[in-house]
Parts: sequence; C-alpha cells; structure tokens
Amino acid sequence: MNIIEIKTSKRNEFIDITLQVQGAVKDSKVKEGLCVIFCPHTTAALTINENADPSVQKDILEYMEKLVPVHKNYSHSEGNSDAHIKSSLVGCSVNVIIENSTLVLGTWQGIYFCEFDGPRQRKVYVKII
Ligand code: ZN
Repeated sequence: MNIIEIKTSKRNEFIDITLQVQGAVKDSKVKEGLCVIFCPHTTAALTINENADPSVQKDILEYMEKLVPVHKNYSHSEGNSDAHIKSSLVGCSVNVIIENSTLVLGTWQGIYFCEFDGPRQRKVYVKII
C-alpha cells in the first residue's frame, strides 16, 4: 500500500492528487489492474471530477455549503457535523482501472481529495491490485 500525504490549507477545498496516484501506479510496475484510492478520515472524501476548469470545483464546494450549512442544530459536540455529512455524501473511496501502467480516466477527469474540515495534515491510501 502507498500513502499520499496531503497538507490542506482551507476548511473546504479540493486538491488534485491525480499525479501522485499515477506515480504510485508507475512505481508498482503493474501494467493492468485496479487502483483503489481510500480516504481514512471522517471529515474528508475522495471524488473524480473535472480538472480543466477550476470553477467546477468552486461551484461544487459552494453548492455543498448551501446543502450542508456549517451552523445548524447538530447534535455532535465537536462542531464539525457539516464536515462529517459532506464526507459521507461524497464518499471515502474511488477505484480507477489501470491499462498500460496508466490510470484510465476521462479526458477531463482528475482525482480529488476533498477537505471539509481543514486545514489539516491528511493521508490517502492507494492500493494497486
Ligand atoms: Zn467530529
């Protein structure tokens, strides 16, 4: 298993980790297989979305803010229930097919680490099968 270390700088942000994941695939020498990418945090997530226009990530984050407000009558005493909810809505894992030692992604797709309770030091696990 590979571990990608990520230092986030905002409370909510998307960080493109495609190059780091592709690097792990190359290092593994696996030509054909499956890459499992897993986020071991309860207030962060992983998603695959557009990497050409940064306004797409901005729109997603702004929409998530409206959908799951920071302040509401949540029960969780830590004060970050919105981040837990966003984490579950987006999901903690994505899988990408590997062909010719390369991640098979669409032309405009990138793999994003989604921070919802930063800034923090984070990890992403990558397992190549
Ligand atoms: Zn919490």
